[in-house]
Amino acid sequence: MENTIRVQDDLYLHVNKEAIDAAIIPDDKPAIGGFINLSIQVEDNLTKDFNRIIKGGLQVQDPNFQKALDLFKLVKNVKKRNSEGFKPVQKIVDKLLQFKSIADLNRKITDNTITYAMPFEYWVSTDMQNSQKHCLCVAGPSTILPDTTYYGEQMKPQHDALMGVWTQMTAKILKAYGFSEEEVNTHIQNAVCFDQIIASLVLSREQMSEYTKLYNPMPTKRVITLLKPIKFKKVLTDFYGENIPEQIIVYDVKFLKGFKTLFNEENFDKYISWALCSKLLSACKYLSEELRDESSTYQKMLSGLKDLPTIERQAYSLASSYFGAPIGLYYGKLYFGEKAKQDVTEMVQEIIQTYKKRIAVNEVLQEETKQRAIKKLDTMGIKMGYPEVYDEIYDKLNVNTKASLYTVICEISNTVIKHTMEKLHKPVDRDKWVMDAHVVNACYNPTSNDITFPAAILQPPFYSLKQTRSENLGGIGAVIGHEISHAFDSNGAKIDENGNLNNWWTKEDYKMFDKKVKAMVNQFDGLTTEHGAVNAKLTVSENIADNGGMAVTLDIMSTMPDADYEKYFYNWAKIWFTKQRPQYAALLLNIDVHGPNCLRANIPPRNFEEWYKTFNVQKTDKMYIAPNKRVVIW
Ligand SMILES: [Zn+2]
Repeated sequence: MENTIRVQDDLYLHVNKEAIDAAIIPDDKPAIGGFINLSIQVEDNLTKDFNRIIKGGLQVQDPNFQKALDLFKLVKNVKKRNSEGFKPVQKIVDKLLQFKSIADLNRKITDNTITYAMPFEYWVSTDMQNSQKHCLCVAGPSTILPDTTYYGEQMKPQHDALMGVWTQMTAKILKAYGFSEEEVNTHIQNAVCFDQIIASLVLSREQMSEYTKLYNPMPTKRVITLLKPIKFKKVLTDFYGENIPEQIIVYDVKFLKGFKTLFNEENFDKYISWALCSKLLSACKYLSEELRDESSTYQKMLSGLKDLPTIERQAYSLASSYFGAPIGLYYGKLYFGEKAKQDVTEMVQEIIQTYKKRIAVNEVLQEETKQRAIKKLDTMGIKMGYPEVYDEIYDKLNVNTKASLYTVICEISNTVIKHTMEKLHKPVDRDKWVMDAHVVNACYNPTSNDITFPAAILQPPFYSLKQTRSENLGGIGAVIGHEISHAFDSNGAKIDENGNLNNWWTKEDYKMFDKKVKAMVNQFDGLTTEHGAVNAKLTVSENIADNGGMAVTLDIMSTMPDADYEKYFYNWAKIWFTKQRPQYAALLLNIDVHGPNCLRANIPPRNFEEWYKTFNVQKTDKMYIAPNKRVVIW
């Protein structure tokens, strides 16, 4: 490979520089590269298919797929959307503005449209302490800015710039809606003030990334008391009758304890303005082209987008997210082969076996801990390609093609929320997929102890039957190892083989593990890119997973007579290829649990002897670190 950047100094740029220089970020995307390129490809293929099916050129039997197409058509009907203006959202706005006191609100508290404008969030999820069951969770609402850190002294310039854009955008929309200049100013001041209090109470992204710490059971009675003056009990009995849960999992205790400082009679007009702004802004993207455009100004600034996705792209994105499973099934059946499924499944099994072997021969861990870790691997489920069946929720969804797009979206959301809430007293369905087949991603689900590889990620550069085994190991192999490692990252280590929060470590072993986690934090602490510093704590679980993925795949490489380490490392670097808009890159540094791609490519290799041997990396090279600084956790 001809390149002025030496591989020993920068693997990522050595492999990707040419592609980065040549890449042009589409105006409607925040970035381009590996994952996004594949997503665009999937999007293009499926959009073409949708249009062909609509024209009668293709047949699909699944009635739920037809509903997705109805939604697709409805989004594309801009003539209808433009003619409706604000009309679809008017009813909700009127209702909100009628509330003059908390008592007014409480009288309508079980009305769907109002319930979902609450100053706190609640939902049903898998119970982390007993993963066979569901639990009810409560947390604070999101802030206007992407994270609470934006409200601190250190980020004041960013805060002011972003808030300025948000304020201007919201003012324009409120004015267009028909509010007077004075009303507009009051609503915005109120909303910003309410948001400021929220920001002082809710968790930061860094705190949220330690998800095992979000499990704080509290007696329902206490939660109801803390949420007073809101009649939360009424909301619960409306759903569950007498059968309300005994406890609720509180994600952020500080928020709940401080709730009364946020929500009280004195702040009530602030709350109404806040709810009004957020309802109106979130509605706009489903209204006319003009309103959609206007309401995206802030989001565009945040990621540096030049343009919004076309209406057709919006149609694809809404259809494919609201009807994810039926579309995933269609995609999987058409675009994913049995041979690839079998091949990658075997690769996963081999990686799990190798993981087990590595744990078995681990000289530091005590036998007791080893056995539990191996048990976790033995019981780990594999979801590969696409599921043959999907959740019955899709049978309940309706797309009324005569209604406005916004009304349809609200109805679908309400049905989904109701369906999820109704699961509270039912057992957890472990066969359910948490990621749809047309999504270019992969995941580990800690509460079901399984890994999911949607069909869409099983493509080059990650995977191909035409690539060498070394290349596939550096691509999808390392990704598989990454997902498995999540079972043993800083969060996963606190959960057992059944997906329950449970300490399965001996005291000494956990202490040692914790020390290694800290070493991993240290390895990333202080690293910067041209867009800012990396948050080593926010990204630690992902960094552990990358490290584990590399360790286990290099182990497999060591058993292969034809192992080609150059190809392995090159493909590893290639899968992280990306070119991002600067605003987007800076945003991700603040909110993403994954580190920047260039570091994900460049940091893990330097922990492994194979890296040094393959490219003869010396002390004077930039990708060298001293042996005592190298960290291998699994
Ligand atoms: Zn991950």
